[in-house]
Amino acid sequence: MEKVGVLAVQGAFIEHEQCLEALGAQVVELREAADLRSGFNRLVLPGGESTVQSKLLIELGMAERLREMITAGMPVLGTCAGLILLAKQIMGKRSVDRTALGTLDVIVERNAYGRQLGSFNTRADFAGMDDLPMTFIRAPRISEVGPGVEILGRVDDKIVGARAGNQIGVTFHPELTGDPRLHELFLSI
Ligand code: GLN
Repeated sequence: MEKVGVLAVQGAFIEHEQCLEALGAQVVELREAADLRSGFNRLVLPGGESTVQSKLLIELGMAERLREMITAGMPVLGTCAGLILLAKQIMGKRSVDRTALGTLDVIVERNAYGRQLGSFNTRADFAGMDDLPMTFIRAPRISEVGPGVEILGRVDDKIVGARAGNQIGVTFHPELTGDPRLHELFLSI
């Protein structure tokens, strides 16, 4: 059975858990370093506030072990702030200011939509799925992808998702739309 560790230190983790459980996966909440030994085989990094999440991951002593698990091939889905944690670099920051995990070779720009468009819903073809509903909340954009990183989709010319092997990062919130396809894709990798 799939056992998914969902980072639960801050942000929209409950909705991810509900989606995953509806698809038959078992879920374990990751709140502290000891939870990293609970034997999960997939990882979800939810949306929320990436600066807070980043700080907590480091303070709670979780960042290094999570980075090792991802590098060793554990499938991971990062959504919105979760994508920012995965990104190698945040635009405008010096490369020495690493994100908490930094395993996905993309550059992200935080809060890439103007104030008025801070939150919106749309639909677009994404990763081979037709007309996927997408909810954006103060979303980042992926401004560059490294070699070997696949672009999964665009909305208004902005890259909204990327994949490198076991890592999928999206700028939107698939857990808030009621459409299970992205979680299904994640559970199938
Ligand atoms: N704007 C948030 C950040 O930069 C991300 C927003 C989200 O996860 N919905 O951390």
